[in-house]
Amino acid sequence: MNFIQNLEYDHLLAEFKKVLKESLLKFTKQREVILQTLYNFPEHFSPEELHVLIKSSYPDINIGIATIYRTLNLLENSTLATSLSFGKAGKKYELANKPHHDHLICKNCGKIIEFEDKKIEKKQEDIATKNGFILTGHVMQLYGICAHCQKNKKG
Ligand SMILES: [Zn+2]
Ligand SMILES: [Zn+2]
Repeated sequence: MNFIQNLEYDHLLAEFKKVLKESLLKFTKQREVILQTLYNFPEHFSPEELHVLIKSSYPDINIGIATIYRTLNLLENSTLATSLSFGKAGKKYELANKPHHDHLICKNCGKIIEFEDKKIEKKQEDIATKNGFILTGHVMQLYGICAHCQKNKKG
């Protein structure tokens, strides 16, 4: 891990501690491990997937799925994390410290591809301006079938 990343993590950790304090929750090793894992693996996790990963990465830490649910919820409510919704299948979370990006989501296997397109970003700004809006943010999720799942169907 390089110096800049460490700084970034320290900042995140400080924010997290502040949020916990405001919510009258204790800063525990379990909660720190949740933040750390999300930081070390910049992917998209359901609470269950995160649970499995933490159990294998920190075998000596006893962490319940309820703690993971609650902590992810807290991270999202405090805007330190964002989530993608999969309807009945639940949500997948990622930390909000990543650069802005949008998502392609496979409806079959749940694979997520991140992308960023300057033209689309600009177009959104134009549409907002045309309608007298000051854009403060957006969420774009494109649903479909990934290349792998298309191949499997044909095979
Ligand atoms: Zn797929
Ligand atoms: Zn993402």
